[in-house]
Amino acid sequence: MTIFEPLADKALRREPLSREELLSVLTCSDDDLLDAVAAAFRVRRRHFGRRVKLNYLVNLKSGLCPEDCSYCSQRLGSAADIVKYTWLRPEQTREAVDCGVGAGAARVCLVASGRGPTDRDVDRLGSTIEQIKDDHPDVEVCACLGLLSDGQAERLREAGVDAYNHNLNTSGERYGDICTTHDFTDRVDTVQRAKHAGLSPCSGLIAGMGETDDDLIDALTALRELEPDSVPVNFLIPFEGTPLAGKWDLDPRRCLRILVAARLVFPDAEVRLAGGREIHLRGLQPLALHVVNSIFLGDYLTSEGQAGAADLEMIRDAGFTVHDPAADPATDSGGADGGSGNGAAAEPAHRRDLVKPRRRGAGTALPPNA
Ligand code: SF4
Repeated sequence: MTIFEPLADKALRREPLSREELLSVLTCSDDDLLDAVAAAFRVRRRHFGRRVKLNYLVNLKSGLCPEDCSYCSQRLGSAADIVKYTWLRPEQTREAVDCGVGAGAARVCLVASGRGPTDRDVDRLGSTIEQIKDDHPDVEVCACLGLLSDGQAERLREAGVDAYNHNLNTSGERYGDICTTHDFTDRVDTVQRAKHAGLSPCSGLIAGMGETDDDLIDALTALRELEPDSVPVNFLIPFEGTPLAGKWDLDPRRCLRILVAARLVFPDAEVRLAGGREIHLRGLQPLALHVVNSIFLGDYLTSEGQAGAADLEMIRDAGFTVHDPAADPATDSGGADGGSGNGAAAEPAHRRDLVKPRRRGAGTALPPNA
C-alpha cells in the first residue's frame, strides 16, 4: 500500500484530510508522485468514472475593470495587450455559446469584468440567458459577473442561470497581497448569496502567485467551508503588464500535486482544470485528467488556450470520454465507466498529417533536428 492510499480511503469516506496529510501530498517526492495521482484517480473514478466535463468561457465584457486584482490582465491600470470591449450584443453572446456547445461543452460560463453587475446589467443579461436556455436546454449556464448585491442572485436564478462562479483565489490571510479594492469576505459573501438563491456554487483558486503550501491548504479549507459544487483550479498566467508578470513559480509536477490535494479535499465535487494548464502542466496535461473531471475547452478570457480539437484528442488519447449532458445524468456522481476505454470516441481513422517524410539531416542540405 502506498502512503496515499489511506488518504484516498478517507476522501472516499468524505472525511476531511488533516493539514499534515495535505502537506504530505504537496511536498511528496517525484518518486511518489504517480502514487499520489493513482490515489486521486481512485477517488475521481468512484464519483465521475472516466468522464470529462467540458466548459466553455464567453467573455461578455473584457478589460476596463476598476478593481486591482494583481493576477488579472483586465485590472485597473493593466498594460497587458488584451482585447478590450464593453458588453457583447446578445446575438454575439449566442453565437459564441453555439460555438462552445457545438464543440461539446456541457456548461457555458458567461463572464464579465468589473466589480459587480448593475441591476440593469442583470436585467439585460436575463433575456439573453433565457434565449440560450431555449436554444440549448441541456446545457448549464454559469454566470461570473463579480460581487453580487441584494436580489441579483435571485434574479439570475429566475432567468435560468444554473450556477454562479466567484473564486476565492487564495487564502484570506494573503488576500490583501493580491487585491486592495475588495476583500476576502466580499468574495465569500457573494458565493454564499449565490448558494442561498439556489445557484450551484462554483469557487476555486489560482496557484502560482507566491503562496506557500500552508496558504494553499488554507485556501482549500476556506473553499471547503463554502461547499462548492465545482472548484476551478487555475495556474497563474503571468501576463506582461500586470504586477505578477514574470512570476513563473510553477512546474508541471507541482501543478499535479496541487490538483491531487484539491481532489482529496473535494472528492465528489467537480474539480476543474482551468486557466494556465497548457503553459504550466505542459506535457503532463493528460496525466492531470486522472485527477480532475472537468476542463475548459479552447480559449480563456484574455489568453489563448490549446485548440478545442487538441483538447478533445487529448481526452480520447488518455482513455477518457466527454461528458454528454443530454445522454449522461445531470450530476456526474456515481459509477465508473470501466477502464477499457469503452464508450470513447473512435480513434481518428487517418492521421496522415502525423507522418511527415524527413527532409532534413543526414543526406540533405539542411541541419538535423537535434
Ligand atoms: S479578477 Fe475580475 S474584479 Fe479582479 S481585476 Fe479582473 S476582472 Fe476585475
